Amino acid sequence: MGTDNNHILIIGGGTAGWLSAAILAKTLNSKLKNGVKITLVESPDIPILGVGEGTWPNLRGTLHKIGISETDFIRECDVTFKQGAEFVNWSKTPEPNKPHSYYHPLSTVSHSSYDFNLAPYWLQQDKDTRLPYDRTVASQARLCDHGLAPKQIVMSEYSAAQEYAYHLNACKFAEFLKQHCIDHLGVNFISANVTEVVLDSDEFITHVETDHISEKQLNADFFIDCSGAKGLIIKQTYNIAWQSINDVIFNDTALAVQVPYPDKTQAIKTHTIATAQEAGWIWDIGLQDRRGVGHVYSSKYISDQAAKQQLIDYIGEQDTSELTFRKIKLNHGYHKKFWHKNSVAIGMSAGFVEPLEASAIFLFDAAANMIATQFPRKKSEMAYVEKKFNEHLTMRMERTVEFIKLHYCISDRRDSQYWIDNCDPKSIPENLQQRLNFWRSQPPTKYDFENAWEPFNLDSYLYILYGMGFETDLETVSAKYTQTERANKLFDDINKASELLIEKMPVQRALVEKVIQYGFSKL
Ligand SMILES: Cc1cc2nc3c(=O)[nH]c(=O)nc-3n(C[C@H](O)[C@H](O)[C@H](O)COP(=O)(O)OP(=O)(O)OC[C@H]3O[C@@H](n4cnc5c(N)ncnc54)[C@H](O)[C@@H]3O)c2cc1C
Repeated sequence: MGTDNNHILIIGGGTAGWLSAAILAKTLNSKLKNGVKITLVESPDIPILGVGEGTWPNLRGTLHKIGISETDFIRECDVTFKQGAEFVNWSKTPEPNKPHSYYHPLSTVSHSSYDFNLAPYWLQQDKDTRLPYDRTVASQARLCDHGLAPKQIVMSEYSAAQEYAYHLNACKFAEFLKQHCIDHLGVNFISANVTEVVLDSDEFITHVETDHISEKQLNADFFIDCSGAKGLIIKQTYNIAWQSINDVIFNDTALAVQVPYPDKTQAIKTHTIATAQEAGWIWDIGLQDRRGVGHVYSSKYISDQAAKQQLIDYIGEQDTSELTFRKIKLNHGYHKKFWHKNSVAIGMSAGFVEPLEASAIFLFDAAANMIATQFPRKKSEMAYVEKKFNEHLTMRMERTVEFIKLHYCISDRRDSQYWIDNCDPKSIPENLQQRLNFWRSQPPTKYDFENAWEPFNLDSYLYILYGMGFETDLETVSAKYTQTERANKLFDDINKASELLIEKMPVQRALVEKVIQYGFSKL
């Protein structure tokens, strides 16, 4: 039986475009005769955004799947290891000159492995003497405190002692993926501007027109819009309705800057630092030769000049006069449909939620994997897959927005109108309000997360809630929590395991230098 969908055209060669091309070409076997042909067209004139430097552990699986050597990736893309995020000053400081800080690590908490929720037992401990939640239920926060890596050089590519992701140079990553797609996965590349998207009478796309000297018309059966914020297909061609979330997430501007290390021996953190400010927050990501630092803020509450000054103050003693500060306007929201007719949007074209939890590349990856896995080869199958994809991605976007908002709306900071407004119930999505209300008297459990595909799971919520000092009063449910002895034994085991890891793990810079010199063994 013949197939209708045999050729996919991707428009755009940023992180979204090349990651999608790699996943699709590998899964749909572009190099085989009965596989799906993939072409990517990228404008030679419009640069990629090139700012997404933080990732999630899923990227390890994806890189492995598409046949990339972890050693090559680390060498080529200025990569360092990331074990989570540290949130500084998101709550009132407990003591003068002592910032409030907690981690959202990437490793799963032991209670997930044993199906035994440790959170209520931590809540039952004496508030004044207990260790912070992140240091009680897992080891990774303590490794981050010491700047220690999640693995050793003797471990093979992609394997881990602790769950990890990467910090990377976004421009180098797109280039690296491009070469891999062209050299190894059979992706056809065209450098040209798409000038028009042409539809048939049923509003399906037949082809796009370009300014290329010979490839003026690019035909395909299915089209992926990775054209960035302009949304060449989803916005400019189909004008799909937009769900704004600017009333939930207030930050509308980012100011990004690359800060070189003063010398090549400078320690590199193994986590992203997100430090809350008067009207936003500053990210700090350590790559091999420089830090990527930026202020995400709301221009309603602070002037550009004051925001820049706060960023300079954060960078500290280093001379910033030679540095280039790049201003980026942010528009939070997403399209009400991502898949329409024979096209789908992935990346900035689909939507944007601020990078507080570095969730965008994860969402591109998840979207491309879903399309690749379910790609309909026959036109008659399209409507079903379109429906599933749109439901799935909408759920992922809604849940992402809620999780980002959580960081703001449970804060006890009241030092500026920005923080006061962030706690206004009118700005908090209803599902999050209901969850928070319930969690005031019972800690979250796996049953709060009925959808296996939610981007942020039980562990993530527990880390943020109890890192921020959220109060759960167990009084009405205390009869349920009688396994104190078992919990204490686990806390003790975790503590011992943490001490062992601290003894064994190398510091981040030492591991990265060894990988550059010797490489990991292949899996
Ligand atoms: C300040 C900031 C920090 C971020 N940090 C993170 C992070 O830490 N982690 C994370 O996961 N995400 C992060 N993100 C989000 C995300 O990674 C970026 O938004 C991502 O760079 C967007 O990639 P993209 O491929 O969708 O778009 P782009 O990089 O903008 O690429 C668009 C592509 O489309 C092409 N194009 C456009 N028009 C045409 C045309 N007419 N014809 C042909 N080609 C065309 C361009 O040439 C380009 O190749 C961050 C975003 C911002 C704004």
